[in-house]
Amino acid sequence: MVAPAEAAELWRLTLQHSPIGQALVGVDGRLLVVNRALCEMLGRSEDELLRLGFQEITYPDDLDADLAMFGQALAGEVDSYRLHKRYVHTDGRVVWGDLSVAVVRAVDGAPRFFISQLLDVTEQRANEERLEAATAEVERERQTLEAIFDTVNVGLLLIGPDGRYERMNKRHAETMHLPFPAGHGGAAGQLGEVYLLDGRTPMPREAMPSYRAAQGEEFDDYTYWVGGDPATRAAYSTSARQVRGPHGERLGAVLAYQEITDLIRAIEVKDEFVASVSHELRTPLTSMLGYLELLCESDELTAGAAAQLRVVQRNALRLQALLSDLLLIGHVADGTLELRIGATDVATLVREAVETMSESARRADVALSTDVPDHLPIRADGQRLRQVVDNLLSNAVKYSRSGDEASVRAWREGEAIVIEVADTGIGIASDEIDHIFGRFFRGGEAIEQQITGTGLGLSIVGSIVAAHDGTVTAASEQGRGTTFRVTLPAR
Ligand code: ADP
Repeated sequence: MVAPAEAAELWRLTLQHSPIGQALVGVDGRLLVVNRALCEMLGRSEDELLRLGFQEITYPDDLDADLAMFGQALAGEVDSYRLHKRYVHTDGRVVWGDLSVAVVRAVDGAPRFFISQLLDVTEQRANEERLEAATAEVERERQTLEAIFDTVNVGLLLIGPDGRYERMNKRHAETMHLPFPAGHGGAAGQLGEVYLLDGRTPMPREAMPSYRAAQGEEFDDYTYWVGGDPATRAAYSTSARQVRGPHGERLGAVLAYQEITDLIRAIEVKDEFVASVSHELRTPLTSMLGYLELLCESDELTAGAAAQLRVVQRNALRLQALLSDLLLIGHVADGTLELRIGATDVATLVREAVETMSESARRADVALSTDVPDHLPIRADGQRLRQVVDNLLSNAVKYSRSGDEASVRAWREGEAIVIEVADTGIGIASDEIDHIFGRFFRGGEAIEQQITGTGLGLSIVGSIVAAHDGTVTAASEQGRGTTFRVTLPAR
């Protein structure tokens, strides 16, 4: 047992050293006793506080609520209450307090004073406000995304890490019946009425965009047809991106489906038009070339007329070459490119191509060199391979400056034959190199320097090499030169 005097002292010390603000408040609201924590919380000395009532330290807007509770306690309606309210610090700051008040009553029930405990929750309150603001921001963003998700003209699909369909937008849901007329089970890779760009070959499971995305692949502009009926089917271009969590873990994939039927149909119409015009022009041109040849051989011509006829002949031959390029492109587009595979020799073919190009190279002041073994037998379409080398070599000369060098090398590498055409010419800009094999693509510098061309040469090279199951790559440094490498299976 502690003596009463000692107990009183201990209580006083407890009050003084409590980390929570404490006060005894009179029935008129005046502060009768305050501890150190309360003084620090409000930035006032003990003497100052003892001259004030709680009304004067309360934030004005919160006073009514406190007075109402205080009144109820005075009237004997409640014995205690709790309130979150604001106080004013002497430096002008608002201090948020968690206030608990208990009434101490006399024997007859009349209130004698109030015991108030005040916990400073300013920090906690600020955190809550920050959290609320952040939550509101996230919600706002979610709603914006939601609105975009359902308004865009692109089908959007979210696939979970297990390949299950988690969400799709309205647009995508509306188009699902075309590839999946019997319904979709909601998992990536389901086979449906989906065809490769030729419109005929059914797309295998591992090529399905959803399956590829579920396997972790990312891709852009993957094009194909959906729908079994050629009259109503639609072409799509699809891109996929992986979704990752903050630690790089895979959360799934997003796919965007853009319908491009009109575009593909327009390209088809253009291809058909180009093919039929080229075809129609070929017959009269062949006839003109035949008569031109006869005319050029005639000895009845004056020297001037003969020279002029040779110009006509040269241009007619150029026209013929252009037409045959266009026809070949047409065959590639509609999948009817046929190869006449036979035994041929890459070494001979390269030597002949270099020989044919030597006159143009000499005029352009580009040094040509060749490095090929005596023989490099291959089973391939010799005429088409010659076209590959001709196109690469003519580019090497065309895109070189006076004094530059161009070379052709060919060798056997295991089961493959490699042909490399290199030049020290103007090179290709890094943002163009991915496009050079595209149909009708012409580089910026080619256009600027007015170097003649149609943008078909490399497209033809790519198609012929692909038809031989080979590959062609380009490496270039602008201003320093370009190297094309063709790799063909020797068969
Ligand atoms: P074209 O030569 O008729 O323009 P190509 O399909 O042969 O068409 O080539 C496409 C483009 O690639 C050219 O316009 C040019 O910008 C670039 N290119 C091709 N070969 C070379 C080369 N050897 N050096 C620099 N640029 C080249």
